[in-house]
Amino acid sequence: MTSVHDLEFFRDNGYLLLPNAFTAQEVDALAGRAAEASGSESPQRVMEKDGRLVRAVYGVHLLERTFDLLVRDRRVLEPARDLLGADVYVHQTQLNPKAPLIGDVWEWHQDFLYWARDDGMPRPDVLSVAVFLDDVTEFNGPIFIIPGSHKASLDDETATVADGWETAAQGVRHRIETDTIRGVVEEHGMVSVKAARGSVLIFHGCVLHCSPPNLSPLVRAILFIRYNAITNTLRTIPNPRPEWVASRRPSVVEPLDEPFLAAAVR
Ligand code: MN
Repeated sequence: MTSVHDLEFFRDNGYLLLPNAFTAQEVDALAGRAAEASGSESPQRVMEKDGRLVRAVYGVHLLERTFDLLVRDRRVLEPARDLLGADVYVHQTQLNPKAPLIGDVWEWHQDFLYWARDDGMPRPDVLSVAVFLDDVTEFNGPIFIIPGSHKASLDDETATVADGWETAAQGVRHRIETDTIRGVVEEHGMVSVKAARGSVLIFHGCVLHCSPPNLSPLVRAILFIRYNAITNTLRTIPNPRPEWVASRRPSVVEPLDEPFLAAAVR
């Protein structure tokens, strides 16, 4: 049960950090599966500009049972349901390995504007749940967040600058005007979310966020689960993106009765 304090913090700030939600053993297991997913060639994989290192792998819960169990683990599912006030389904999962010295920038953006424009998502009743598979420090590309920015509608200040989807665009596709970002930062400030591996960062679909390059010699992998309210399923649109980047087969995620790793070894 998410505490009143956490619910209020999220309502005001648009994000919530749950430190050390998962054990070292659990993170080891997730990191191992993540390395396998990164190492396997598939259309779900997006490369960095160098063409060699992996920038992202989409739909990992469809590839690997451990991740499918993770999305049902109460430690991530229950806060998501509490914060959205609804049953949820998985819109998307995404592994970002952020390779040492190469792992590149993700520019300022609101996730929901992508999902609204590219996938036909009706409302921002959607969350990103980031599971930290490594310690996230100021050196290895932490997520920058503008607290309270989830209350700002930036649709009019966001230009669509490229076609295609993530495989085609290593940069942003929907770019927010710099003056707009400056204005929101002047009003709300910024936080850089640093926490130990096993921690979980939840943020609202409209929170303005970005991530700098990883200039450290250490990997910084984060696994994102995007939970969408079951009342907010995607509209039918022409040329929908693949199932593994934007689900059109919503089914309510039911919680496990045990930690994901206990279920995984069964
Ligand atoms: Mn994002």
